[in-house]
Amino acid sequence: MTRKKVDFFKHNIGPEDIRRAGAVLKSIFLTTGAEVAAFENSLRRFLGAEHAVGMTSCTGALHLGLEAWGIGPGDEVLVPSMSFCATSNAVMHAGAVPVFVDSEDATGNMDAGLLEKKITRRTKAVIPVHLYGQMCDMRLIRRIADRRGLIVIEDAAHCLEGRRDGVRVGELGDAACFSFYATKSITSGEGGAISVHDGRMADTLRSLRHHGIDKGAGDRYTKLYRHWDMPLLGWKYNMDNIQAALLIGQLERARALCARRRALAELYERGLEGVGGLTLMRTAPRTTHSRHLFTIRVRGSRRDKILLELQREGIGVAVNYRPIHLLKYYRQRFGFKPGDFPVAEKIGSETISLPLYPKLKDAQVRTVIGAVRRVLAAHG
Ligand SMILES: *Cc1c(COP(=O)(O)O)cnc(C)c1O
Repeated sequence: MTRKKVDFFKHNIGPEDIRRAGAVLKSIFLTTGAEVAAFENSLRRFLGAEHAVGMTSCTGALHLGLEAWGIGPGDEVLVPSMSFCATSNAVMHAGAVPVFVDSEDATGNMDAGLLEKKITRRTKAVIPVHLYGQMCDMRLIRRIADRRGLIVIEDAAHCLEGRRDGVRVGELGDAACFSFYATKSITSGEGGAISVHDGRMADTLRSLRHHGIDKGAGDRYTKLYRHWDMPLLGWKYNMDNIQAALLIGQLERARALCARRRALAELYERGLEGVGGLTLMRTAPRTTHSRHLFTIRVRGSRRDKILLELQREGIGVAVNYRPIHLLKYYRQRFGFKPGDFPVAEKIGSETISLPLYPKLKDAQVRTVIGAVRRVLAAHG
């Protein structure tokens, strides 16, 4: 392996975040408490949402979103095949069946025009994924969901900062789920959250993230001992104070960090537009793209070769994603085969994600652009 000239990702945890996490570590109380409550309050305000509940992952948030609305065995949930497997795995964890939907070629997002055909008597929910940081057509998805009585849970792991058609992330969904995993726009290594409008649902989610117990550890620590009960069977998905402390400052900087990613994405677009054999993903009108990932598509069947050559040039790359329905477990479990979701498969075989993060320098973007042009010319 050659030495990396340009890393695929660098996080933005700074000295102030480390100081805040250090203060938690020096305190007596490490798990879900004051910092988590403060982060939840900031996140709620950032999103313009009624409630936010901190979790250990976006996968857990998606799972509990389904559980909170009573979705389980016998139910079907519509999900895009072009996503990270967490989206459909959460449906499996709830005991429901993921029903895959193909993508739009231009954006990679789930094709909302295909939803109606997939809805059966068993369909209870739809999970739109705001792929690469670009929001799905939430107005259309909400209309279809209302007409057919579906719950909408947004997978916003890529899209903390997005907007489209005057709609914010999480605004039209019944819930929206966020990830603070190591490579996401703000991170605590692992972490997640769910936003909801309904206060009773927020209470249910707070209980479900902690075994279904009716009091949190914070209550037991800060107040006089009282017996607790467990009215529901829950899970163990509660965010802790160390994670929250790392996230509070990053969330304050999130808009500025996003603006920097947007500027870098524009540099990429200017440098790669019109290069032979290359397709760029499109941004829909009236969209504020949160630019979580910058992906290019190489036409034909040369992707893996180009991917390898870029790495030889010292460029960090990734593939987001190979379609979920063709992963071994899903093939074996449901009998999917190539050709079932042709657009998702095409994107899955063509896509390459390039480095994109606020610490990336303009000069490094030019290095990557040069490498892409060179490799494509040599292997095109
Ligand atoms: C990262 C990611 C997830 C899972 O997030 P975790 O916090 O790691 O569970 C879910 N969906 C998408 C689209 C993701 O990229």
